[in-house]
Amino acid sequence: MEVALKIDVDTHQGMSEGVPRLRAMLEREGIAASFYVAMGPDNSGRALIRAVRNRGFLSKMFRTKAVSMYGLRTVLSGTLLPARSIALAFPELMRGLRRGGFEVGVHGYDHVRWQDWVDELGDRGVREELGDAFEVYRAIFGEPPRSFAAPGWRTSAAALRALDEMNLNYRSDTRGRAPYRCVADGRILATIEIPTTLPTLDEVMGRGELRDRAAVLEFYLAQFKSDALNVHTIHAETEGIGELDSFRALVRALRERGAVFVQLREVVSRLKAAELPTCEVIRMTLPGRAGWISAQGAESVLAAEAPSEKT
Ligand SMILES: [Zn+2]
Repeated sequence: MEVALKIDVDTHQGMSEGVPRLRAMLEREGIAASFYVAMGPDNSGRALIRAVRNRGFLSKMFRTKAVSMYGLRTVLSGTLLPARSIALAFPELMRGLRRGGFEVGVHGYDHVRWQDWVDELGDRGVREELGDAFEVYRAIFGEPPRSFAAPGWRTSAAALRALDEMNLNYRSDTRGRAPYRCVADGRILATIEIPTTLPTLDEVMGRGELRDRAAVLEFYLAQFKSDALNVHTIHAETEGIGELDSFRALVRALRERGAVFVQLREVVSRLKAAELPTCEVIRMTLPGRAGWISAQGAESVLAAEAPSEKT
């Protein structure tokens, strides 16, 4: 059983508190993982304002314990309180991850802006977000990023095309079954896509069906496939802070079942793009998650190779 842990860092608090705790835990357990950090401002409070407009928000907020999971400071960030930066506020923490052997990729610039407006941003806006994010990454590490993970698993044909020009080793923008190449506007893109294959903890909890942590652990262990690559996305804000003990219990249980933990860059290094299936990128909803996400669609055999295709 192969398990790739994809750790998304969406907020200032996730970076300052969740990342050091996760790093320490993973190092103690001897487990590899890949971090994807939002490079720009923490506007997560704006996600709250968006959510308040939805009916039933308060009961969901209460049920999913958003304030206790994310903290009041995070919930207000970018609204009543000024937005704090995420990656740029902690360059040494970022470099320390790399020195510790962890992979670090880009999780967008303004997470909330991308997640809420990826369609409205259009080609120009998407390129601005990517340009800003890649510039911050270069400022911190002195070299360009090699991987990208879309905020909120939301992408568009414009975003897929723009990313395809950025010479990345891979991206992890969608939910799906196994690595593939994306088809956008009838063309096969060059960059390998490694989708997240499991539901996130907030989705599992958001369904409201599992009553306690033991039930959540049991649910997850039944989801991991023994004969395939499992990509599990966790959040520095959640598994890194309030749910750290549950996450540790999960990785230990997986290891007892023979799981091998790999980084996504290791996975991609043994893949050959030309041998991967080509699939449409579709939009769908998931139980326990508000709004749409991008997902691996059916295999497509009609698409043409894009002009930017690497040989
Ligand atoms: Zn995220």
